[in-house]
Amino acid sequence: MRLRNITGSREVIAESPYVVREELSFQCPGTWKEIFGNGNPIHIEIGMGKGKFIHTMAKEHPDINYVGIEKYSSVLIRAVHKMEAEELPNLKFLRMDAEDIARVFGTGEVDRIYLNFSDPWPKDRHARRRLPSREFLSRYDVILKPGGRLEFKTDNRELFDFALEELAPAGWETDEVTYDLHSDERLMEGNVMTEYEEKFSSQGNPICKYIIRRRA
Ligand code: SAM
Repeated sequence: MRLRNITGSREVIAESPYVVREELSFQCPGTWKEIFGNGNPIHIEIGMGKGKFIHTMAKEHPDINYVGIEKYSSVLIRAVHKMEAEELPNLKFLRMDAEDIARVFGTGEVDRIYLNFSDPWPKDRHARRRLPSREFLSRYDVILKPGGRLEFKTDNRELFDFALEELAPAGWETDEVTYDLHSDERLMEGNVMTEYEEKFSSQGNPICKYIIRRRA
């Protein structure tokens, strides 16, 4: 998702109390407890878009700290506006490319990672840019606690098949896999719909989901 450039979005984000300042983000590893002022578990969403999912999750789970990560200011600004309308103490944002994720969280500092409707990057030569690729899994491997899990949802079957194939070479195993989440009563328990999930499921697209775990 890349929205038309929104004038002033960079400046608003630079000043926002909800966004960790970019120039300080590489000083964050090991300090997230201090940033939130408590030692609650940390769950992150990478590529959060306008932030509907993570804002709802943070509201529903006040004992978990959430960090929403988004590459583009023009998109992140929407999540910032949501926080201005409804401030939550357990939600922070980072404007960054997730390639640098292991420079922002310390080893084992993250309890859970969410990837929702990640960009498919359909050309083979761009495979390493896909957020569930083995290159990204090796970065998640560093920041995720042993036994920590990663949840991935998409309606893009090709991307999902690719993501499943990446697991074994990267040393991960699946806890759950479904090709039709919305028909699975058990896995739907507590499901929070993302913006893309609402859009594509309303068009009749089945939603695929996996839950994977680092091998301990
Ligand atoms: N997760 C949201 C949802 O399900 O509605 C948005 C999905 S949108 C297709 C993917 C988002 O991921 C876009 O906003 C894009 O800018 C962001 N994104 C893609 N690659 C990224 C990266 N390497 N680092 C951070 N954000 C990224």
